[in-house]
Amino acid sequence: MHKLTINRARIDLRLRPVTPLLVKSGDKGAQLLHPERPDLMCVRTRHGRYGETVYIPGAGLKGVVRSSAERILRSLEARCCDPMDHKSECHEAASKLGDQLARGRSPDADPHPMAPVYKMVCLACRTFGSQALASRTSFEDAYPTTTTLERANATEARSGVSIDRQTGGPSRGKLFEMEVVVGGEFETSIQLANFELWQLALVGVVLADVDEGFVRLGSAKSRGLGRMAVEIHRVLVDQVPTSDELGGVATLHPGLAGPYGLLEQSATIVAEGRGVGPLGHRFVWEGADSCRRGLDRITETAWPFLRSSRGVA
Ligand SMILES: [Zn+2]
Repeated sequence: MHKLTINRARIDLRLRPVTPLLVKSGDKGAQLLHPERPDLMCVRTRHGRYGETVYIPGAGLKGVVRSSAERILRSLEARCCDPMDHKSECHEAASKLGDQLARGRSPDADPHPMAPVYKMVCLACRTFGSQALASRTSFEDAYPTTTTLERANATEARSGVSIDRQTGGPSRGKLFEMEVVVGGEFETSIQLANFELWQLALVGVVLADVDEGFVRLGSAKSRGLGRMAVEIHRVLVDQVPTSDELGGVATLHPGLAGPYGLLEQSATIVAEGRGVGPLGHRFVWEGADSCRRGLDRITETAWPFLRSSRGVA
């Protein structure tokens, strides 16, 4: 499946801090260069258009979305591994199988050499990747919008108290300063390739959880930091013209369902805004309300397949 694109999606969104946000910089050098800045600093980068700015790394966003998606999958009793368990089937057995398949592979013989690995791993690894398998989902870094660049970089310092791990109380004399982002808007996009509808739905459900405050970003979440408002302002889906309605990869290319162990077949939604795109059909939702409605429809259609996936190996 990795050799061809059957469908792809892009979710464009803006994140706005509702409570202060700290995305920690691991860069000790920055601390030495700027001793006036707080102990826990926001991560910064030099962005061609803007110069130095605070930002939210895509890898961090992906981590948050993945762990929330895992919690949802576990609640639905769908297959989901513990990514910290390096002995799990998703990691050890799937990596071994992947190596074996890569070694024994004659070029052009099997158009889907990695299908058995995809079939073996859990639903989180299928969506967000693992040591054995590339991710279907990618996250761009989130940068302030041009109009909110100054506001986003007008950070504030908050003081905190270190907690003594032994006593559970405050460590004496260990006050520290945190630098937090208190305003502005960060723009990013999430992309999926060769996805099933449940995978797009899962990302949409997690984004709604972030918007509702059930999922927070960055550090010091238990101190109330990191609540973000999410505005999805555009969703774009391209797909091959096998179906006139929006469908996942199993619907658009039924021959792949068996080898890859896909969940959905013949699940489509009648989507507004269908037009012509580079793969055949293109569906576009614009504006927050329309995007929300579109993602809700996708979730309604795809969720029963996730629920019925429990116990499916
Ligand atoms: Zn897994």
